[in-house]
Amino acid sequence: MNAEWGSVYKDLGLKPIINATGSVTALGGSIVADEVREAMDMSNDVYIPMTELEQKIGDHIADILDVPAAYITSGAGSALTLAAAAFIAGKDDDKIQQLPNTTGMPNKILIQKRQRYWYDRCMEFSGGVLVEVGSEEGTTKEELINAIDSDTACVHYPVYEQNEVDEKILSLEEVIEITHSKNKPVSVDAAGQIYPLENFGKYVKIGADFQCIAAKYMGAPHSTGIALGTKDVIDKIARHSFVGYESRRIRGIGRPHKIDRQEIIGVYAAVKRWMSLNHEERLSFEESKTLNIINDIKDIDGLEVKIIDNIIGHQPFGLNIDIDTKKIKSNNLDFVDVLKNSEPSIWTRVPDGKDTIEIHVFGMTLDQSKIVGKVIKEKLEGLMI
Ligand SMILES: *Cc1c(COP(=O)(O)O)cnc(C)c1O
Repeated sequence: MNAEWGSVYKDLGLKPIINATGSVTALGGSIVADEVREAMDMSNDVYIPMTELEQKIGDHIADILDVPAAYITSGAGSALTLAAAAFIAGKDDDKIQQLPNTTGMPNKILIQKRQRYWYDRCMEFSGGVLVEVGSEEGTTKEELINAIDSDTACVHYPVYEQNEVDEKILSLEEVIEITHSKNKPVSVDAAGQIYPLENFGKYVKIGADFQCIAAKYMGAPHSTGIALGTKDVIDKIARHSFVGYESRRIRGIGRPHKIDRQEIIGVYAAVKRWMSLNHEERLSFEESKTLNIINDIKDIDGLEVKIIDNIIGHQPFGLNIDIDTKKIKSNNLDFVDVLKNSEPSIWTRVPDGKDTIEIHVFGMTLDQSKIVGKVIKEKLEGLMI
């Protein structure tokens, strides 16, 4: 960290943050990779027809990932909204212009009750309505079969391969089989499934009609995403998109989901970089940042420290820390605030539904990981009972 660190924010009277909480949109998400910034710079003073650019980059990314078709969107969330629009209204221009009013169109987005998650709301913005299938106890095949009817736009399925398998829900394979047997499409949120590389695009390859990817997780601008899918679904997404709105003069819901030509070029550079990156090196770098923190704090009496050794998905390694309130005058929730208010400010969190402090090194430089370890140690030492 040099003297200039954060000055662009400090000059505005804002307090810069060390991000120890991973890829979170609330902090601005991620750092754009050098190769990506360079590619974006080169695209800056040249104009290009956006329809052709989307088509060409989509073709290249589809080739790289070995899926039928791809489209760059303004985030994975945007890809979900556009895909829902595609499943609801198809490619009929009158219907495209009628959204978000879905009268006369199938508008139910089915999702297993136990799979409800933060971003499922994105499936509703084009007029869809989420309908839960099954219960907290799980979902049976019969429940899904019976839930799919002529009002069904699609069945939506979020994937978190880094988490333990939930035996109570239907697997993606089962959902695809059942949904396709009733001639309806399957949509997958695989925003973070970019590692191992064989998972990147996998869900379309095993039969989903669409999946999204969050390009924020791989060094592209935080505001970008990728829709992958069948040629038919991607063609529909293009028609609903801001490009369709401006180039075809069809006033669909996609207009506010605008993306720059610089960003599209950036996503392409990020995908190429990700596919040729030395992931052993990337993982060992993430591990070394994690160990920097652990080594500073592992011997503190009253602090339990556990490494997170997961490498699947977008956010490898990290650690959990737990404060023993009998030995330290704080608790996990309060200590998150202590770190927020420290100098420099460090953001960690106790994730929803958990009670342990989770630290992620995704958004940290090597130097920052050393600062994080030192500050945690110093603050805890001041709180010993
Ligand atoms: C981040 C994320 C999203 C939203 O992606 P954006 O690119 O920020 O719109 C959707 N789903 C999952 C699982 C995510 O992690």
